[in-house]
Amino acid sequence: MPEVKAPEIAVVSPATLARVGCVAATEPAELEEILAEARHAQGLWEREPFATRSALLRRVAHEIVADDVALARLIVDETGKPLAEAYTHDLLVAVEELMWLANRLESVLAQKRLPFPQLVLKQKRGWVSHEPVGVVGVISPWNFPLGLPLTQVATAVAAGNAVVLKPSELTPLTGARIEALFRRAGAPAGLVRVVHGHGESVGAALVGHRQIDALVFTGSTEVGRIVGRRAGERLCPATLELGGKDPMLVLDDADLDRAVAGALWGSFANCGQVCSGIERIYVHRSLHDAFVERFVDGARRLRIGDGRDPGIELGPLISEEQRDRVEALVGDAIAHGAELLTGGTRPSTGLPGWFHEPTILSGEPASARLRDEELFGPVVTVVSIDNDMSAVRLANDSRFALGASIWTRDVARGRELARQVRAGSVWLNDHLYSFGAGQAPWGGRGASGVGRTHGRQGLESLSHVKFTDSDRGWIAPGWWYPYSDRVVDGFRGVLGGLHADGPTARLKALSAHRRGLAHLVRKALS
Ligand code: NAD
Repeated sequence: MPEVKAPEIAVVSPATLARVGCVAATEPAELEEILAEARHAQGLWEREPFATRSALLRRVAHEIVADDVALARLIVDETGKPLAEAYTHDLLVAVEELMWLANRLESVLAQKRLPFPQLVLKQKRGWVSHEPVGVVGVISPWNFPLGLPLTQVATAVAAGNAVVLKPSELTPLTGARIEALFRRAGAPAGLVRVVHGHGESVGAALVGHRQIDALVFTGSTEVGRIVGRRAGERLCPATLELGGKDPMLVLDDADLDRAVAGALWGSFANCGQVCSGIERIYVHRSLHDAFVERFVDGARRLRIGDGRDPGIELGPLISEEQRDRVEALVGDAIAHGAELLTGGTRPSTGLPGWFHEPTILSGEPASARLRDEELFGPVVTVVSIDNDMSAVRLANDSRFALGASIWTRDVARGRELARQVRAGSVWLNDHLYSFGAGQAPWGGRGASGVGRTHGRQGLESLSHVKFTDSDRGWIAPGWWYPYSDRVVDGFRGVLGGLHADGPTARLKALSAHRRGLAHLVRKALS
């Protein structure tokens, strides 16, 4: 019988449409083997000391640095993003996270003593420890094909888990490199494995598989809802990092040059295909016209083209389907009354890829699709606001709540507004940068997701937090049997003596219930 080959997933450059390479989709039987290997590897890995985990993560970081040119080139080929962004959004983000984890994992995960200040629990010795969850399934999108999955894989490994990663079917080659990086760094066989395939087949199989103990899903809100529901059915913990529609609030005292430069980068980096990309700008009316003039001018000057050229600042959208979607959203906004300030068409780059001009719209009509849908492209709306409160109200008027930025020269004012903005991260006079800092927690609220990756919170979310108590058994707890009116009287004394309002009331309670308290002491020492 002829050998039946697994279906192939081909990758094309979204800039040139040239074939970049291909991978074989993972077959169901192969997935079973991979999961069994991961389970075995995890059992051994969790016994390794923290220093061994740290050393592995450092070696992975060094492998990335040693192979930076090839890795960055592959990322550009698969996504079309500018070369500079392959470094800043992917390689540096990954290495920073690896190094943070390597340096800090022990201090976060090591067992810690839990003190018992309560008088009636003085004999207890409590400890809090973190145990690995087991085998973690990581399902990733394509927009940061190294930076995003690698930080999550590394966090899982740091916490003592094995990982099975399913990268996006649009960027499987970079995904495959993640397994290779860990292998070259000396990771035990089976500890980090990559499976390939479409979301509805291999992705869904991971989500539903009983050998997956926890999930980290990053992707659209629509798919996140499906994943969360399926994971919930089998009570599998799932971190969901979903879509965003970040607002930028430009206050009347903002540094205009900085705000315009920040708006250009925050809206158009990665061709706007950033979960935490700026999609809505609210500018104080006193700065609005000058801001718009410079912003439009800056957008027109961005160099669009083949990301392999280091001077290119804007690449293509990831797929034809995504470009069609962005064009439809822009058309719909204009039809509903938004004014097109620049862009809105396909630029002439001489390349066949899925390019779209950086596009700025004035106004966000209530009935337009983009009021509620994530754009995920090089398109942003600008709206004039009268005061800080209306900026906050508009910023919070979205089902998404991932990131937000406030631009002001008055840091105290900015921090006060930050408190009122509904988001997982709020930045002052900058946007998004903390995704690249290992210590900063990352995640959103509402339609932007559930849970946190990165930092201490990321490590804890891929651990079982366990409380362990040790008691020498010398004192019998007063709350054990037998019960009697003396016992009740004693506990009234404990309650009032410790927690009544003020010293007089506490003394009164101790005196009123002294017989019961004496009974509890005798009971404890008996
Ligand atoms: P997507 O939801 O289409 O796919 C994400 C991943 O899920 C892919 O690997 C896909 O194969 C898989 N998948 C699809 N259907 C599945 C299913 N039924 N079961 C299991 N897995 C399934 O998203 P995308 O287009 O790859 O990425 C873009 C989205 O990701 C945007 O909405 C963006 O905002 C979001 N994103 C969020 C963050 C964040 O940190 N919050 C970061 C990057 C991207």
